[in-house]
Amino acid sequence: MERVFNFSAGPSMLPLPVLERAAGEMTNYRGSGMSVMEMSHRSPVYDQIITDAEANFRKLLNIPQNYKVLFLQGGASTQFAAVPLNLMNKNKKADYILSGQFSSKAFEEAKKYGDAYAVASSKSEKFSFVPFVSREQFRADADYVHICMNNTIYGTKFPYLPDCGEIPLVADLSSCIASEPIDITKFGLIYAGAQKNIAPAGLTVVIVREDLIGNARPETPTMLDYKVMADNNSMYNTPPCYCIYMLGLVCEWLLSIGGLEEIKKRNETKAKLLYDYLDSQDYYFAPVRKDCRSMMNVTFVSGSEELDKLFVKEATAAGLVNLKGHRSVGGMRASIYNAMPYEGVEALVAFMKKFAAQHPKE
Ligand SMILES: *Cc1c(COP(=O)(O)O)cnc(C)c1O
Repeated sequence: MERVFNFSAGPSMLPLPVLERAAGEMTNYRGSGMSVMEMSHRSPVYDQIITDAEANFRKLLNIPQNYKVLFLQGGASTQFAAVPLNLMNKNKKADYILSGQFSSKAFEEAKKYGDAYAVASSKSEKFSFVPFVSREQFRADADYVHICMNNTIYGTKFPYLPDCGEIPLVADLSSCIASEPIDITKFGLIYAGAQKNIAPAGLTVVIVREDLIGNARPETPTMLDYKVMADNNSMYNTPPCYCIYMLGLVCEWLLSIGGLEEIKKRNETKAKLLYDYLDSQDYYFAPVRKDCRSMMNVTFVSGSEELDKLFVKEATAAGLVNLKGHRSVGGMRASIYNAMPYEGVEALVAFMKKFAAQHPKE
């Protein structure tokens, strides 16, 4: 069977050249006589792999020297606790913008550790937009401000970066990391589960400004203490070895095609094709406010649950898979991360037109 166009929100498509390279190196990594999955993380050959992966990741994202890169486990969800444990350490206050399910979960977790405050929320509008928050709305003595940059489930994205003055900005970039260039210096800390856009599931990447490390609360589990992980180059214990290797390959691939400027262009072109079609017709409805549309996750509905179901079923049969919306919102969601080729979105739009013609509404 041929490869399908996989619109899964995560784990999601990986670039075919990366998979092919990994396949070629699967049983005997560069003459080592073993797979990357089988080697000691303390061996010289693996040391080169993790060193190169970090170097390429830094180069790709243009990460300044005063930021540490940590390769961790536990998913982005573990960071919901690790962030307050490490950073809610002065006034035990943190301000959260609630723009979807993941930021709400992060907020609930932070409440366990101190005075977490929801500055704004778009929940009453079904998270169909990202609230705008201006500088004076943040508490001046908050230890950090937390946002979720791209809301995977609802298909929204921050159209702006909150101005929080001297307060460190913490951002969950799980579903948009490496999709376009960003200015790392605007953030105190960035975290991302790797399985959406940069690697297989099992790796969580943290990018953290050095001055924010080293003041974790005393009750912080060793495994969640950024200082322990930074001091040990992410090898306090066994790291997710194979995922880090794959991250390295994905970064090399992105660098080889022209880096984040180029992938941004490609991502914009793909998203525009789909949104332009959605805006040009009235069979499907895109619930997200236009200025907050995500470039990575595009949500839409037909207006009928039955038609939505049929859509997903017929699309699957046509080789367009995983288009079902998140179980909490229904409808459809097309996740078009870096690895989704333009042809995949073209095929989706062609299918949407055909489906609309074949299943007219009353
Ligand atoms: C998927 C996702 C998460 C949860 O990630 P896990 O790695 O499964 O814990 C958190 N935040 C965002 C934005 C996501 O897309």
